[in-house]
Amino acid sequence: RNSCVSDSSDSVISSGSDSDGQVYKVVLLGEHGVGKSSLARIFGGVEDSSDCEETGNTYDRSLVVDDEETSILLYDIWEHDNSQWLKDQCMRMGDAYIIVYSVTDKSSFEKASELRIQLRRARQSENIPIILVGNKSDLVRSREVSVDEGSACAVVFDCKFIETSASLHHNVRDLFEGILRQIRLRKDSKEE
Ligand code: GDP
Ligand code: MG
Repeated sequence: RNSCVSDSSDSVISSGSDSDGQVYKVVLLGEHGVGKSSLARIFGGVEDSSDCEETGNTYDRSLVVDDEETSILLYDIWEHDNSQWLKDQCMRMGDAYIIVYSVTDKSSFEKASELRIQLRRARQSENIPIILVGNKSDLVRSREVSVDEGSACAVVFDCKFIETSASLHHNVRDLFEGILRQIRLRKDSKEE
């Protein structure tokens, strides 16, 4: 658990279950180099990043938020290979999505919009929780995307927004608690 589990995602699916058996799948999307794997490793509690490079990893962890425990399976597999099959699979499998761009890279921001549109197309009528993440907020001097641009984009795309720094561990906890709260809200409104 809680490590660079394996590059076969099926093998870990069964290991993550909490008391009510519910495990939520959260999928990381975004261009290469924006910091998806760095964020995922922090989530997974993996300290040393050097020994688990660039394979598709899945992180399984329970979070206690607002006195309630929930299991999350975080998929960092978007770039695992370049097959269309995997990309389609990613678009279909998530209970929630984290779309990451780098605030130092305008084109990754544009790519994030594209991904949001693709996701909407793939999951038309579903109202899936999505958080748009502007990562690398520590790199002040090479910033190409402002906070305002990021949050305006999130408004247009009807999703939440947060800026993070994986390097400084800034806002990373808030990000994962935020996605969990959104999943719960969505679930509660479905049950009513
Ligand atoms: P991925 O391709 O989206 O999985 O991105 P990685 O997590 O592999 O990160 C790509 C590079 O950006 C690595 O060299 C990371 O160390 C660096 N990086 C990731 N997050 C941050 C951040 O918040 N700040 C800074 N300065 N560098 C970061
Ligand atoms: Mg990666």
